[in-house]
Amino acid sequence: MDKNDCCGCGSCAQSCPKQCIRMAPNQEGFFYPQIDRDACVECGLCQKHCPQMQEPIRRPLQKAYIVQCGDVDRLAKSASGGAFAALATGVLERNGAVVGAAFSDALVVTHVVVERMEDLHKLQGSKYVASFLGDIYGQVKSILAEGREVLFSGTPCQIAGLNAFLSKKYDNLTTVDLACHGTPSAQLFGAYLKWLGEKHGEVVEKYCFRDKGPSGWGMVGSFTCNGTVTTLNPFCDPYYATFLRGETYRKSCYRCKYANLDRPADLTIGDFWGISQYSGKHDFSEKLGLSLLLVNTEKGREVFEGLSDKVKSMGLSVDEACAGNGNLYHPTKEPAIRDVIYKKMETLSFDELQKNYLAHESPFMWRVRRFRRKLIPRKIRDSLNRLLWRKR
Ligand SMILES: Cc1cc2nc3c(=O)[nH]c(=O)nc-3n(C[C@H](O)[C@H](O)[C@H](O)COP(=O)(O)OP(=O)(O)OC[C@H]3O[C@@H](n4cnc5c(N)ncnc54)[C@H](O)[C@@H]3O)c2cc1C
Repeated sequence: MDKNDCCGCGSCAQSCPKQCIRMAPNQEGFFYPQIDRDACVECGLCQKHCPQMQEPIRRPLQKAYIVQCGDVDRLAKSASGGAFAALATGVLERNGAVVGAAFSDALVVTHVVVERMEDLHKLQGSKYVASFLGDIYGQVKSILAEGREVLFSGTPCQIAGLNAFLSKKYDNLTTVDLACHGTPSAQLFGAYLKWLGEKHGEVVEKYCFRDKGPSGWGMVGSFTCNGTVTTLNPFCDPYYATFLRGETYRKSCYRCKYANLDRPADLTIGDFWGISQYSGKHDFSEKLGLSLLLVNTEKGREVFEGLSDKVKSMGLSVDEACAGNGNLYHPTKEPAIRDVIYKKMETLSFDELQKNYLAHESPFMWRVRRFRRKLIPRKIRDSLNRLLWRKR
């Protein structure tokens, strides 16, 4: 297999009976398997459990919905319409376990198991950085073996990794994948956080990519230093702006085999942009955020139908629902600057890197652009966006 196809899920390392594979970061900070050749007995289990070496699944009977969580507090903490929180709440009420990406105290994004309702907030919200999986697949297998229900969420390659690791169906497992642009490295994110803290004379204690507080549902983020919350304009921030333009992803993201409608999970969630197309035909609170939800399997259908008391939903055709979401049709295109950024990261400080290679707008230019945008009515802007995203 070409190394650039490796998605870093670590299914190989977790499947190795001799524990001779460990996941280690490369110079860019992305995790890849490292094999101790002396200990390897060439049993081939690592290849058998590699998601990138499996045949793709076909999903001919998919259904699509716009979804909004009925619990306003949960919805406020969610990146989009809180579809994930509604799914997770149902599982926790039945004494199950929910697995997903959380920030550690040091703001490293790691997959963890949540078993108490009061901890669910840790998994809520998008963290636009590669999440460290560690031995999470093994932990999930143990919980499933106890007969308890598990909801596992993550990027599609992480779900494909879990499926390949388990290599059999479990009735007590539901999987949810995200419509996904791609993920930057944890090392880049760590260097950025350090720089952000130094700029503000403090350590960054909390970071939120999608903060609905300042201006409602959108891409605005925030960070907290010494108890003070500062709002982040994504287009004026070097890490966020380059993430949105797809300049800092793992190599495998640009050739992602899950960036299409044949999803590896039972359910797929993403942002649903473009509700203005349906004005007068729905009663969602638009400003609070809306999720796109795809039901990909029979199991997904059962779980979604069980949510009727927790969400408001509206059915759409799959084409209509996904039209504004380019990464459900194709991977992000790899820009030439991607390799330059990671090469320069090896020698430059983050401050030099952001000045010279992580392009972002000045707040003044952003205001000019926003003013120009306001001259075009929302409905036309939404239609243009949907068209552009699809073609990109
Ligand atoms: C890296 C990344 C890229 C994305 N790209 C797109 C996109 O192109 N188009 C689109 O419509 N939506 C995208 N999303 C999804 C979107 O941001 C929302 O997460 C999604 O709409 C679900 O929102 P929610 O309100 O239902 O739940 P939320 O509570 O906001 O979502 C939480 C869920 O996201 C998972 N999660 C958060 N961060 C990570 C991570 N780093 N790795 C793995 N899982 C994570 C959690 O485990 C949990 O399941 C992306 C998310 C991530 C993390």
